[in-house]
Parts: sequence; C-alpha cells; structure tokens
Amino acid sequence: MLVRPPHGGVVAPSTPGGRPAIWAATGRSGGFSEGPFASMNLALHVGDHPEAVRANREALRGRVEATGLAVLSAVHGADVAVVDEPGEVVGADAVITRTPGLGVVALGADCVTVAVIGDDDLTVAAVHCGWQGLVLGVLPAAIARMADMGVAPVQIILGPSICGSCYPVPLDRVDRVRSSCSDQVARSSLVECPDGQPGIDVREGLRAQVIECGVSADLVLSVGGCTFEDPELFSHRRDGRTGRHGMVVVRSE
Ligand SMILES: [Zn+2]
Repeated sequence: MLVRPPHGGVVAPSTPGGRPAIWAATGRSGGFSEGPFASMNLALHVGDHPEAVRANREALRGRVEATGLAVLSAVHGADVAVVDEPGEVVGADAVITRTPGLGVVALGADCVTVAVIGDDDLTVAAVHCGWQGLVLGVLPAAIARMADMGVAPVQIILGPSICGSCYPVPLDRVDRVRSSCSDQVARSSLVECPDGQPGIDVREGLRAQVIECGVSADLVLSVGGCTFEDPELFSHRRDGRTGRHGMVVVRSE
C-alpha cells in the first residue's frame, strides 16, 4: 500500500488495554520556515532559522500528542541508540525508545525514514537510511536490537525517498551493494535508470532486508513516492540547499 505524505496513522495495541502507537510522515507544507526550507523543515543543521525549526518540531510534537521528541542527527552509519529523553540523538542512525510519550524522529531529504513499532505495546524506533545504511544494515541492526529486548515488529513504515530511477550512482556504489548485501537485497535495490546508468532504490532494498529479518511483507507499509519527483517533499539531490521532512513514531502515554 502506498500513500502520500503528509500522512500518519495509529497502530492498535497488541493486547487489550495496551498503548497504541501513533506515527506521522511529514511533507513540506504546514510549517513556519521560509525560502529553501519552506515550510515544514525539521532539521537544525541545514542553515534554517532555529526558531522556525523549533516551531515546526513543536507542531509535529503536538500532532502526534508526544510529550517530547528525540531527533536523529544521522551520520550514515549503523549505530543504534536507545533513549528515554527528548533532544538531539547524536552519532546514530537508529533510535529506539520504550518511554511512553517520547516521540522518536528520523529526518530525510532523499534518504529513507523508517518507523518500527514493536509488539510489546511499548517499544518504537525511528531509522534513517540511505545507500550507506543499506550496505551497513542499519535497519536490520535496529530490528536485532529490538529482538535483544524481546520485541518483534508489528508494523514497519517506510517513508518517502528518492526512487531508483531518479538516483543514478557511480559503479563503486553498485559494487558495494553487491559485495555487502544478499543477492535478494541487491536484486531488489539495483535498477537501471532511464538514461542507462545504474541506480539504487534504497526503499526496495530495505523492504527485502526486513523480509530477510523474518518480518512478514504485509507488515511493511510504504508512505510517499519519490522525493526528487514530488515538489511537496524535500530533495537534497534536486535542490541542494533544502530542508528535511521527517518520520515520527510515539507510544501514547
Ligand atoms: Zn523518482
């Protein structure tokens, strides 16, 4: 199933009386930023006015009824952080929380943002993943960390990202995918662009990775189309200086 952002949903608890999870994928509209960051930019590091970013984050926090937000400042690695307080999550590309009310947020502008909802009515995670995260296995790492906690995903939401046809890459990146990923993940992610160059469809690669982790395909929801093609989404490859949309997930208090 594919839906366009801004979009969100509620995942019902696994047990009677449990806490539902609320998630949202943002687009460009509905925020306070101006110029290249118009208007719902959620990133502090891109040159936007911090007050505008804070106002946008506050709007997002209210929309998902969170008490605070823990926001990934991604580094294109595979480290997984576990947090129980709001703020910037530095040095990781996946963040897990078991604190009700605390929203975890991944930011992107072509990379895939992911929400993972656990079956314990408590655990939620946000993940940022570009081609490097695909090669390094950041989403499988987050799922493995949740498994260590005794938690399995009941829903994985893959946010908007650049599609393979709009994402031509040099051959060494294709080689990295072939050498680091399984045949199935490589087959799912490597595409030929309309001009004949090789491209990487990270979202389809992630879908294959989570299925290899044992997650049923019907638990994986895709939100949004191609960031490069859709002017309602931020795209770094299209615009260079631009903002970041986000994926947030929170377990209600
Ligand atoms: Zn595209």
